[in-house]
Amino acid sequence: MSSQKKKERPPLPTDVDVLIIGAGPHGLAMASRLLLGDKAMSDVIPPQESYVRRPPEVRAHLQKARRASLNFAVVDSTGAWMGRWARQFQALGISHLRSHEMMHPDAFDHSTLSVWAQAKRRSDFLFLEDLPKNKTYHGPFVLPSNRMMLDFCKDLVRLGGLDDKLWTGQAESIRPRGSSMEVLLRTAEGAQSILAKHVVVARGPTWRRQWPAFYRNLEVVATAEIYHAWDLFDKPEKIQSLRGRGVIVGGGLSSAHLCVQLAQHGQVDLLIRRARRVKQYDLGLTWMGWRRRENRREYEQSSAEERMAINRAARDGGSISPELNAAVSELEAKGSVKVHEWTEVETACFESGLWTIALSSGDVIEADYLICATGALVDTSTDPLLTELQKIHPLPMRGGLPVLTQHLQWGKLPVHFMGNLAALELGPDAVNMTGAARGALRISQALPKALPKEQGKEQGKEQGGEQGGER
Ligand SMILES: Cc1cc2nc3c(=O)[nH]c(=O)nc-3n(C[C@H](O)[C@H](O)[C@H](O)COP(=O)(O)OP(=O)(O)OC[C@H]3O[C@@H](n4cnc5c(N)ncnc54)[C@H](O)[C@@H]3O)c2cc1C
Repeated sequence: MSSQKKKERPPLPTDVDVLIIGAGPHGLAMASRLLLGDKAMSDVIPPQESYVRRPPEVRAHLQKARRASLNFAVVDSTGAWMGRWARQFQALGISHLRSHEMMHPDAFDHSTLSVWAQAKRRSDFLFLEDLPKNKTYHGPFVLPSNRMMLDFCKDLVRLGGLDDKLWTGQAESIRPRGSSMEVLLRTAEGAQSILAKHVVVARGPTWRRQWPAFYRNLEVVATAEIYHAWDLFDKPEKIQSLRGRGVIVGGGLSSAHLCVQLAQHGQVDLLIRRARRVKQYDLGLTWMGWRRRENRREYEQSSAEERMAINRAARDGGSISPELNAAVSELEAKGSVKVHEWTEVETACFESGLWTIALSSGDVIEADYLICATGALVDTSTDPLLTELQKIHPLPMRGGLPVLTQHLQWGKLPVHFMGNLAALELGPDAVNMTGAARGALRISQALPKALPKEQGKEQGKEQGGEQGGER
């Protein structure tokens, strides 16, 4: 999205009430809540049909510039709102989201994106034809295009004056200083630090790669040649240069999108370590259907061990949508893609510009490139950003995740987490847009309110509108 004009930028503030690390959809959901204060929605579970706030109220919200009562700043290594999201969607050639229209970073209402689309006369939605309306799930069935999501977020950024809150920088460490936290940043000007009364870590999943077991045994020359899908997010032009026969290790969305892209330039073998999973959404539809509130309640009443098991079962590893599966199946029928289920790489070596890859099936493939689309490594105990926190205030860990408070806080320290690191609290969709909305709500409950009087009065007036529809 809009990159910053360096010359006009004021210097990074030295202290703030809230520092958000990461300007993706999760950082934006947090910023949206800071801008809206008490006006943000209190029930973040999307309705299945109809609306909560009435469309005129939502339209009025979309015309209003906002100013937060708390002094906050955002730092992001890409220096742009939704920068990483935009790159990953571009690199993978994804036209439409997997999540539906009620899932987005605006904290005012679930319907904000659809009301915005109507006002802008946008119709670039994908209507899910094959998803039946039944007892488990009866809507929504509409997926926004990625272009729409980016344009919508651009408007949220404009209305909130959020480009003025964003600085380019890589957060490298967090440590307590007095009653605040000191965050050390690497910026173009060198190392800088910022004091924040509260820190929100919204780094997203892609900062750390998960590699399959064979990677450990690769020779140095091979480690320089192998790609993780996320390396390609940073170099979309690289994808265009990959030619010939390729091997992709995966089973989730990224691997299948890469297959579709790369099959235009040669044969692709997709290796999945189990059977192919086809699902409309990353988690089972019951998490979005009529039982969604019960699911959440049961989840929140479970122990950390039970939550880990629920998360694992609900996500069930990588999966692809039926629409993407149809595209992959078409390429399989043409012979340009071969899907190997229940297959892993045993060994791989790179010599004279060619990979020789031995598979667990006993087959050996020669390939021009090898990509692992194997997701994120989540291991808080070895997370460099959190080393100091671990030393000063060690937290119990479960499956590499910290056991945070209900406000997603690192014990008593004012550091809060969004996304996959908060999955023990937020549940199986922690990393998704719905996790962003829930995470921002939980964190906002731990922040001081400090709403100026004028803004408070205005909010009371606007909130008087009727609330309609089914939740
Ligand atoms: C291919 C793909 C498609 C997806 N589609 C959907 C979908 O349709 N719907 C859905 O709900 N979810 C989807 N997801 C899951 C999830 O919503 C996205 O991964 C989303 O981008 C996560 O948002 P985020 O803000 O946590 O992370 P990101 O979008 O990754 O943003 C995090 C930001 O933090 C910055 N950052 C990281 N570390 C630091 C640091 N140390 N210092 C400063 N900045 C830092 C990064 O530069 C980045 O800009 C998809 C994921 C993938 C991979």
